[in-house]
Amino acid sequence: LLSPDGSLGTVIFEEITALAGQHNAINLGQGYPDEDGPELLLNAARENIASGMNQYAPGRGLPVLREAIAAHQQRFYGLPVDAEREVVVSTGATEAIAASILAFAGPGDEVLTFEPFYDSYGAIIGLSGARHTTAPLVGPAYQPDLEALEAAMSERTRVIVVNNPHNPMGTVFTRETLVRIVELAERFGAIIVTDEVYEHLTFAATHIPVATLPGAWERTVTISSAGKTFSVTGWKIGWLTGPADLVDSVRSVKSFLSYSSGTPFQGAVALGLGLEDSFYRSIADSLRNRRDLLGEGLSAAGFDVFTPQATYFTVVDAAPLGVTDAVALARRMPELVGVAAIPVPVFCHEAGARRTRSLLRFAFCKKEEVLADAVHRLSSLR
Ligand code: PMP
Ligand code: GLN
Repeated sequence: LLSPDGSLGTVIFEEITALAGQHNAINLGQGYPDEDGPELLLNAARENIASGMNQYAPGRGLPVLREAIAAHQQRFYGLPVDAEREVVVSTGATEAIAASILAFAGPGDEVLTFEPFYDSYGAIIGLSGARHTTAPLVGPAYQPDLEALEAAMSERTRVIVVNNPHNPMGTVFTRETLVRIVELAERFGAIIVTDEVYEHLTFAATHIPVATLPGAWERTVTISSAGKTFSVTGWKIGWLTGPADLVDSVRSVKSFLSYSSGTPFQGAVALGLGLEDSFYRSIADSLRNRRDLLGEGLSAAGFDVFTPQATYFTVVDAAPLGVTDAVALARRMPELVGVAAIPVPVFCHEAGARRTRSLLRFAFCKKEEVLADAVHRLSSLR
């Protein structure tokens, strides 16, 4: 994502969202819900602003949120986390990812991600000066190729970035895969940075945090965010948990990126983390229907559909429609049919982009009537 002259490319989500706006298209590109999250959170944020919580929060985050994050890790995963020393609140998961990579890797190091990879990983690895190595997710199940993973590792591998559940492919890594990743990290002395922002958006398998696996905790920082779980992507409240020494290093970098994160939202997110189990079940339940609605429509429109186990994205192969360049199609689709999607090759380096050249990612975190309209419009692609 860094051009040869060292400049950063444009953010694909911005480009496609702008195109969607220009052509009045339904935006199934950028992943954000078209409905607000729980009233409880929205009201809490309003009240916090009204009652004067409008100045800097502590750099580590408000104690009430750090305690709620620690309690969440205990409640869902049985992980004991010290709210004082093992948690830091960030400005979205994006900042936690950036601060982690910048804290742990630099020139001469390698940072490994799976491919396709979420766009900010590539950009930040580039900014850190480290070399970006990859191991592919391979079809038809889009799980990591473990032999390729081992072959891609070396003693220079400082960080393995895991993204599970995975954006864009919508896969959930198996326990065996995660165990193998931990073993390899141990063997090569690498730190694991795991981005688990879709932890509560799983349909098939239950989420296994890397940090719960044997030998993982002391070398793993776990990142999540309020955006997906509570449908508040614009609040940009994320967090990171892990052993105190690693969390401290990330916090130092974070201090100079943003210093601290949105005060009035932090207490509101703390309330969200304490919501009852029925709320957490309802997130996936309501998304599952919409996944199926979109999946059936995409299939009827002639795409090969890869049904996701998690996240709010469905990846399709447009090859049956004669498409060989998903990037070109994604740029034309808003005007052509009035629907926007993200091309998967933009989440890849060159070889990966060739492998995924006909794949497109559609977001289904939208109202059912919006998805139905999108499906109707897409039927004209045939
Ligand atoms: N990681 C992944 C895998 C994502 O899909 C996203 C955005 N949806 C982020 C990180 C960014 O999260 P945030 O908006 O909290 O910065
Ligand atoms: N994470 C969201 C996605 O994958 C969008 C994030 C962004 O716009 N940078 O669509």
